[in-house]
Amino acid sequence: MLKGIAVSGGIGIGKVMLIEDQSLDYTPVKVSDIKEEKKRFNRALSEFSKKSEQLIQQLMESAGENEAAIIRGQSVMLRDPYLIGETEKLISDGKCAEQAFETVCDTFISIFSTAAEDIIKQRAADMRDIKAAMLRQLLGITEVRLNNIPSGTVIVARELTPSMTADINKENVAAIVTETGSTTSHTAILARVLEIPAVLSIPDITKILKNGNKVIVDGNSGEVIPEPDNIQMEVYTRRREKYIGEKRELESFRGQPTISASGERYSLFCNIGTPEDTFKAIDADGEGIGLFRSEFIFMNRNSAPSEQQQFEQYKKAVMMLKGKPLTIRTLDVGGDKALPYLGMPKEDNPFMGFRAIRYCLKKRDFFKDQLRAILRAGAYGNISVLLPMITCTDEVIAVRELIEECGKELDIRNTEYDRDIRVGVMIETPAAVAIADQLADEADFFSIGTNDLTGYMMACDRGNADVGYLYSSFQPAVLRAVERTIRCGKEKKIPVKMCGEAAADPMMIPLLISFGLNEFSVSPPSVLRVRKCISEWTKKNADNVTEKVMKLRTEREIVEYLKTVL
Ligand code: PEP
Ligand code: MG
Repeated sequence: MLKGIAVSGGIGIGKVMLIEDQSLDYTPVKVSDIKEEKKRFNRALSEFSKKSEQLIQQLMESAGENEAAIIRGQSVMLRDPYLIGETEKLISDGKCAEQAFETVCDTFISIFSTAAEDIIKQRAADMRDIKAAMLRQLLGITEVRLNNIPSGTVIVARELTPSMTADINKENVAAIVTETGSTTSHTAILARVLEIPAVLSIPDITKILKNGNKVIVDGNSGEVIPEPDNIQMEVYTRRREKYIGEKRELESFRGQPTISASGERYSLFCNIGTPEDTFKAIDADGEGIGLFRSEFIFMNRNSAPSEQQQFEQYKKAVMMLKGKPLTIRTLDVGGDKALPYLGMPKEDNPFMGFRAIRYCLKKRDFFKDQLRAILRAGAYGNISVLLPMITCTDEVIAVRELIEECGKELDIRNTEYDRDIRVGVMIETPAAVAIADQLADEADFFSIGTNDLTGYMMACDRGNADVGYLYSSFQPAVLRAVERTIRCGKEKKIPVKMCGEAAADPMMIPLLISFGLNEFSVSPPSVLRVRKCISEWTKKNADNVTEKVMKLRTEREIVEYLKTVL
């Protein structure tokens, strides 16, 4: 069995069609007629633009506006006066159009590839596509067309260009497997839109698989099974049918409001880690982002991102959401989330130590960079701030003061920002639950973080097998904490949300409906399932189940009972 990156769900079973790399080799020649060579280059440019236009139209029909934008973006890049000017300069020096254009593209590719930001790295992939397309144009090579392949084909290639993917007749393609690419590459985006199972980034796959090989591709797990035996065929055929059946049922919830069987309306948002994940939330039909874990933009770097760098990331996410809400949690560093460059002291008890809001309130200038970045991004959409690991009201008051200070600084800089940004509090410590009534006076909303709350309520480390049995959100102590938090929020008329994993648990959903939760924030793949689950409960049924649950005394009884009512 081979393993790659699962980028588009579903299971495909079919026969391999290997897409050979086309040779784009040429012999560089010294040109004598420079004027004619420039004309040749410009003819290739116009041809490329014409083909791009056709492809954009085709994609608008088959996949939609967002996907067509990929090709439109490349077409714009190719019209860049600097790119054209530099190529023409090299032609003037006597280089042939192929060599001149390739040299300039390679410079861009090496600059883009070393960038820290994924979005800029993606530009390198765009540039590679453009280079290959232009070389094909100049060398008169026609691209492989995938619109006329036999049904049940598994396309296997080193890399697919966006134009090749866009040309695919999805009815005939069982799956896509490539040697390169990642979740955000164009092949991945298009495969998801076309609903073709896809696994990318399996080294040497084009050498391992042969034309006509039978193969199973699991786009959910990233597994690829060459020449499966009968048992594997049977298992995966059954899995495929189950997946298709469930997906069809869940798809009927796409674009629908999140509403219980008795008509109560809920918000159903997504948890994400990077701005690029926003499109996963949109793809998943999330109604907004309920938790942007901002620590991810601080990771995999040698120093903290500046205010400007952070602003660009937050702005990118909020712009993608086009007015839908975005809740950005301030840096939740420490505990299990280390950032080596901050040089945080080693602690005996890091989960109880100098972390999250405690660290940020001590490192005021560092924290203010983040607050200003969030405030500025707030001018571009609907942003709220969420504070992690709150244990007392002073912390919330201190952050509000800092936000005010940041606002004054932005006024002096004459920079636009959100003057009424909402400030929410994560309820993830027993202390926050105990003073939820007081915290509700300081907060615009609550968001219950059951992942941490469960550990802190039960005083147990989920990583420790000896006490792991205590780590359950169905422990009576945790359920009481959740109920109390929602009740306090309701009494003070502030919305209460849940962004911990428990929000997506079908057994927890009736309890949350009964307690009166307003918003569920879950990982993108859970959105439609949670919407379906909520639709199955009336408030009255949920109340009856909850009344019974809250009288039970052990986690085991509660879970056993909830299993029977599901
Ligand atoms: C939580 O604690 O429930 C939560 C959502 O935050 P994280 O998982 O990022 O700690
Ligand atoms: Mg947490």
